[in-house]
Amino acid sequence: MTDRQPLVAANWKMNGTLETLRPLVQGVRDGIAPDCDTEVVICPPSVYLAEVCGLLEKGTLKLGAQNVSEHEAGAYTGEVSIDMLKDYQCHYAIIGHSERRSLFGESDHTVADKFFSVHRAGLTPILCIGELLEEREAGNTEEVVALQLDAVIEKSGIQAFSEAVIVYEPVWAIGTGKAASPEQAQEVHAFMRLRLARHDATIADKIRVLYGGSVKATNANELFSMVDVDGGLIGGASLVVKDFLTICHAMR
Ligand code: PEP
Repeated sequence: MTDRQPLVAANWKMNGTLETLRPLVQGVRDGIAPDCDTEVVICPPSVYLAEVCGLLEKGTLKLGAQNVSEHEAGAYTGEVSIDMLKDYQCHYAIIGHSERRSLFGESDHTVADKFFSVHRAGLTPILCIGELLEEREAGNTEEVVALQLDAVIEKSGIQAFSEAVIVYEPVWAIGTGKAASPEQAQEVHAFMRLRLARHDATIADKIRVLYGGSVKATNANELFSMVDVDGGLIGGASLVVKDFLTICHAMR
């Protein structure tokens, strides 16, 4: 098995103001242990990318966007382009978060287009995939996950996954305080790896697959100890320095 570097990403969503986010990023930046083996990514609201970029300078943290347009430039009022993200040294962009899918109508097709544009521009997509509660209860988790994943493979090709990160985010676990069990997460992570391996076993083995959905300081260790879980995408707990640092330092 390949050694995959763990990755923990903070999704601050639409929370905070400069007054609260400045000390948050400083606290995380200064609190990461120098020998921490985990890659840590901060995804602030886009309007704060410049500020956070400045605060991360010289640190080991990386910057990510919560969303980006699939279009290069032009008449797309309110959107943010990939070139704009590059101006602030963004390495990553979250694509297909369930809130984008459910609240902003992003289809599998849109998500695939965004992944394609982000990858082509040299940023690393963090692709979110996951099922609704009713889909899990109907026994359709694998079918849903496969459909979401296949739409992206079809558009971008399997090679694009050699520079991508996947997040398994069961929608019923996001912001609910009810995380998937480590076994539930492991099962879906292994399924996604297997799905990728049908196209390329090496890429499937190397890609980092994160878990997202109510990861806390108290359950990160357990979740990250699973063999196919390479870290997490953290919402609520990333807004508290102490909790987020505990998650970043949770080792396999
Ligand atoms: C998320 O925003 O992607 C997320 C997983 O949120 P939370 O950790 O709050 O469930």
